[in-house]
Amino acid sequence: MLYTSTRDSNVRVSSAEAITRGISGDGGLFVPVEIPQLTLDQIVMLSRLDYKGRAKEILKLYLTDFTDEELSDCVNGAYGGGKFSSEKIAPLVPIEEGVDILELWKGPTCAFKDMALQLLPHLLTKASEKTGDHKTIVILVATSGDTGKAALEGFRDVPNTKITVFYPRDGVSPMQKLQMVTQEGGNVSVVAIEGNFDDAQSGVKEIFTDPEVNAELNSHGMMFSSANSINWGRLVPQIVYYISAYCDALNDGRIEAGEKINIVVPTGNFGNILAAYYALRMGLPVNKLICASNKNNVLTDFLKTGRYDRNRDFYVTSSPSMDILISSNLERLLYLATDMDDMAVRGWMHELSTTGSYDIGEDLLGRIQTIFSAGCCDEEGTKATINGLFNSQDYLCDTHTAVAVNTYFGYRSETGDDTHTVIASTASPFKFCAGVLDALEVEFEGDELEKIHQLSKVTGEECPPQLASLTSKEIRFKDCCTRENMKETVLRLCLKGE
Ligand SMILES: *Cc1c(COP(=O)(O)O)cnc(C)c1O
Repeated sequence: MLYTSTRDSNVRVSSAEAITRGISGDGGLFVPVEIPQLTLDQIVMLSRLDYKGRAKEILKLYLTDFTDEELSDCVNGAYGGGKFSSEKIAPLVPIEEGVDILELWKGPTCAFKDMALQLLPHLLTKASEKTGDHKTIVILVATSGDTGKAALEGFRDVPNTKITVFYPRDGVSPMQKLQMVTQEGGNVSVVAIEGNFDDAQSGVKEIFTDPEVNAELNSHGMMFSSANSINWGRLVPQIVYYISAYCDALNDGRIEAGEKINIVVPTGNFGNILAAYYALRMGLPVNKLICASNKNNVLTDFLKTGRYDRNRDFYVTSSPSMDILISSNLERLLYLATDMDDMAVRGWMHELSTTGSYDIGEDLLGRIQTIFSAGCCDEEGTKATINGLFNSQDYLCDTHTAVAVNTYFGYRSETGDDTHTVIASTASPFKFCAGVLDALEVEFEGDELEKIHQLSKVTGEECPPQLASLTSKEIRFKDCCTRENMKETVLRLCLKGE
């Protein structure tokens, strides 16, 4: 299996190269040149395996330059060893007749990014051995919250890697900050920066391509690589759980073999829902993919009109991981839906970067709409959904999941489509405690820990121990630097102890 670029179909690289390089030299994203197919019999066969077994079989189809043994090591390293609090890794929980919630937050940081970021470090270190780099991999991350913590946990103490995370000093939630500054591991560092997320992000991008920093790292046997959500190594682990959810629904007698399902995904960067689209293109029986957005509804407008327009107000919402105006992974959908028209994709992406918008035209929109449906939900809707779901179905969900549930019920009453539906749940309700308490109309005060305990008390749900124990952990990282000092800071941290 070879990989090409969404902006140049002549590119050919191995999966190991796609993963170590992260992004193609032409600015495009790596995609497999063809989509491996699964027959219904094969899906039924997968349903007899556990999550790790399913993951291994699916990864094998995409990462053909990895040996069976290497893939086993990767999968065991990611999903074994009790790192996930559910034996099923991504359990499927029915909430009513024909509707299941796919809980993707049983990992160490309580958000769905663990599903990919627990596996990526293993894929990356094996990939770098294959490409013959034999270097220590240095990961830099700029984070607005969830990604930084999930990347730190994923790379923590993974041999031959180092990771540094920059977060905006005043731009992450107290819980997210606490999760990061108490991070354990011998190869990790966390630095606050005086500025906002964009400052952190642009700073990281500059360092990445800075010739001086790259030469210095090289001379010490190190090289940069990237863990962001456009890396193919983050996308491929996400395909697994949609197929696994179908297997579980089958095993539980919720669906018949071959029956189509709908999948609903709370969406930001379009990575998670794109993985569901790959599963569909591989042969998973899917009727509709429903893309749910919060008040930042650029994707809803796009999937309804064919026009992508980022020139609009940006809202800070109670589902911050979906507060996004540019959904990078949409580029991969456009490439697949146009049957690999690299020139068209390149044109749209150029328009997006120069004018902030592009229009894909009616034909292509029509084709995309045969599969994708979209909807959005405001803050009131988010709250009402958390409250209603808890009080009527006895199911507690977080703010991001609530956006998806709300969008789904809107879709179902509008269309009358009662196809069996799987809704992706992307975070533990305890991770976004303030929003959840607010929705349940519970008065609260005090620090994060008190809020967690209060939520546990009023709902009777057990709080994830990794969140409850945070306040008793040592604060390891107090560094704060300016935008200008980031480069110096990276070099100092990388060369420490060399
Ligand atoms: C990152 C994230 C999302 C958005 O996922 P994308 O793959 O960027 O669409 C949704 N919910 C939570 C909790 C997240 O952390």
